Amino acid sequence: MQGPPLDGGWVKLVRGRIVAVGRREPPGRVVDLGDTLLLPGLVNPHCHLEFSTIPAALSPQQPPGGLAGWLPAAMGARHQTGRSDIAAAIQAGLRESAAAGVTLIGEIATADPTLSYPQQGVPRLRVYRECLGLSDARARGSLTSLRRGLDRLPPQAAGISPHAPYSVRAPLAAELLRIAAARRLPVAVHLAESREEQELIQAHRGPFRELLDRLAAWPSPAPRLLTAADWVSLACRAPRAAFIHASFLDDNTLARLARHRTRAAVVVCPRTAALISGSLAPIRRLLAAGIRVAIGTDGRGSAPDLSPRHEAARLVDDGLLSPAEALAMLTTSAAWAIGCEHAAGRLIPGRPGDLTILAPERVSADPHADALAPSTRVCGTLRSGEPISYGA
Ligand SMILES: [Zn+2]
Repeated sequence: MQGPPLDGGWVKLVRGRIVAVGRREPPGRVVDLGDTLLLPGLVNPHCHLEFSTIPAALSPQQPPGGLAGWLPAAMGARHQTGRSDIAAAIQAGLRESAAAGVTLIGEIATADPTLSYPQQGVPRLRVYRECLGLSDARARGSLTSLRRGLDRLPPQAAGISPHAPYSVRAPLAAELLRIAAARRLPVAVHLAESREEQELIQAHRGPFRELLDRLAAWPSPAPRLLTAADWVSLACRAPRAAFIHASFLDDNTLARLARHRTRAAVVVCPRTAALISGSLAPIRRLLAAGIRVAIGTDGRGSAPDLSPRHEAARLVDDGLLSPAEALAMLTTSAAWAIGCEHAAGRLIPGRPGDLTILAPERVSADPHADALAPSTRVCGTLRSGEPISYGA
């Protein structure tokens, strides 16, 4: 991802770090990988590992369908899982991610903040602590839980996720961004995922309002909510802001993203967008405006597996991206979106030896296309030069 693919290339690792990259005659002792593609480890910038044991994506309940119909199904699934089940789901999701060639995950954590993530022998993690609250009481509880959660994470692995414009009242949003800016932490926000979101923000009406009333989560007096455009400006007070989905962007929000493009990235999850809203972010317009776009899987509550390669292949098949563009979105752009661009996304000296090895069934003239081909197997995922085990 640092230049054109190197035919007959090699990577030299010393104590788990990349110290040199070259082609033809490698220096020193060699592990010959044969006819494979060696890539910087794939990055999944948006996932909810707690859903990893859900056997199939949850369908939105009809009516109202869409996101307001999907959320009750997801909440039902969450209610049925205890603390040990969540730990097991996270473990299963980490194994599945490694098997898909993923070495770094942007994870949204909603569970008990004292539940810890494994640190060794699994893909690396950026754990965004999710916060939400429409009422003042819920917002205060969310902040207490956030502080407990953040204190248990090293800063290079932590982040904050204000959940979404329809679930975070304005004062909580401001406080979350104050904390993110003060601690230099990246943020991730689900943004403009459905049309109903705009209806709730502008008029306090529609399927979301009905859902919130049913859950007794809509407070009185009504909370002040921020528009998508205001969320972009606010979230970009953090050193890095990932906006998840962004399927329904108005011109004003798109212009704000462009203005903040040195901090803002959009993460698309194509299979989730197809299931929930049938609409995808305007990828070509975002790219034309200089905004970085990355590709993630979301969780198994809305996606059939945790393979970012499968998500990317879909966009290439639909003619939206070239294979080379898609691969950059799975590596360099994805690492940038979660504030890990100095540690992941490129094969260059000084980086950890986090690598993905792919074995194409047939080798064509375009290694980028081979990397995304459905018949291509992941035959190794390395963290600091050591294979991550993903067996049962
Ligand atoms: Zn999500």
